[in-house]
Amino acid sequence: MPETPYFVSYPEALKILENHPLHLSTEFVHLDDGFNRILSKDLESKVDDPRFDNSSMDGFAFRHEDSLQPQPILSIVQTVQAGSKQISKPITEGQAARIMTGAPIPTGANAILPIERCKVDEENSTVLLTEEGKKHFIRKRGENLSKGQIALMKGAHLTPSSIGLCATMGYGEIPVFRQAKIGILSTGDELQLPGEKLNKNEIYESNSFGLAGLVKWSGHTAKRYDSVVDSLHELRIKLDTAADECDLILTSGGVSMGDWDLVRKIMEEEGDIKFWRVKIRPGSPPLFGYWKGTPIFGLPGNPASSHVVFRMLVAPYLRASTGGGGIQERRVRVQLAESFKSDENFLVMRRIKVDVSGDQLQAYSTGYQGSGNLNSLVLADALTLLEPGHSGEKGTWCEALLL
Ligand code: AMP
Ligand code: MG
Repeated sequence: MPETPYFVSYPEALKILENHPLHLSTEFVHLDDGFNRILSKDLESKVDDPRFDNSSMDGFAFRHEDSLQPQPILSIVQTVQAGSKQISKPITEGQAARIMTGAPIPTGANAILPIERCKVDEENSTVLLTEEGKKHFIRKRGENLSKGQIALMKGAHLTPSSIGLCATMGYGEIPVFRQAKIGILSTGDELQLPGEKLNKNEIYESNSFGLAGLVKWSGHTAKRYDSVVDSLHELRIKLDTAADECDLILTSGGVSMGDWDLVRKIMEEEGDIKFWRVKIRPGSPPLFGYWKGTPIFGLPGNPASSHVVFRMLVAPYLRASTGGGGIQERRVRVQLAESFKSDENFLVMRRIKVDVSGDQLQAYSTGYQGSGNLNSLVLADALTLLEPGHSGEKGTWCEALLL
């Protein structure tokens, strides 16, 4: 049996994950269900946007040169509304059309003046223009998008505005990657469901809830199982169920060196480990491999660590399953406003608050950085990426991953 890569660097861990991809098939969904999904094909617009020249203001449409006369009084010859089925009459010299936002520009007109800059004489059906007509209040056909143009690319994460754009382009259904069904299994004798009575030495189980949130944030589906006690027998049963029901399994807890770290133990004895332990802080214990053919991440039990490791390892793995699509990682360069503990051999992710008020982004610690301290993660808007050997000294710079 080849030796399991042990205590790998962060780039090595990513490389191993790249070599064991999860491939997701594609499907069509109604636009109503498109939010937070990931496009599986480039989308070409089915129409020009705008479809026709139209007014961006409620006001009057007329010939621009008519507005340059000394006292431009024009006769109002028609009204054009958005969506009106009637074909408007051409506008000629001395004429104006009352026009509503989104209504097509009558032929002959090439300028608009908003209603508040016009004086209307209803009795005589005339309008006095108090300013020169504006050509820029005409939205030109195709100025946003032309028919056939690709506006959303394969891999796009569908945000509220991109869902709107799909509709603008004429798509009632959209091609997307199937969501991975991700099973989440917490382990530990001490864990109790929040809301239940705590017995002696028990704590509330939080990881499965946080991880389920991260799974949904990534655009996938979470299946949260009740936590499993520290027993190889129980763990085996739960892992088998999760492997049957899910595309990917995330466990939390039980992956360190301790005697009760049974996820690591069962994976060593009965699973197929591709790496165990990564040179990152917090969260050095994770493992990745397969349980009966289903990919599995063994995440650390400490709540802040499991979250950070999801962002550092699981999120890139999920992005790869959709050809690099989905929510992208966003990094910025920050200056350390205080000194941070770094490490000679580890990539260090400290939870930081980024002050954006000055010329340069300043990174402050969110407080005690214990790997069990979820509150410091809640307060954070980024994680430092202090490369191995970085001094971590106040005033130095590093990259940070925006949360
Ligand atoms: P372990 O990796 O199992 O040794 O767990 C490390 C630490 O994280 C211990 O203090 C556990 O009590 C805690 N822990 C493990 N799993 C969870 C969980 N699902 N929710 C909250 N804390 C956990
Ligand atoms: Mg444990």
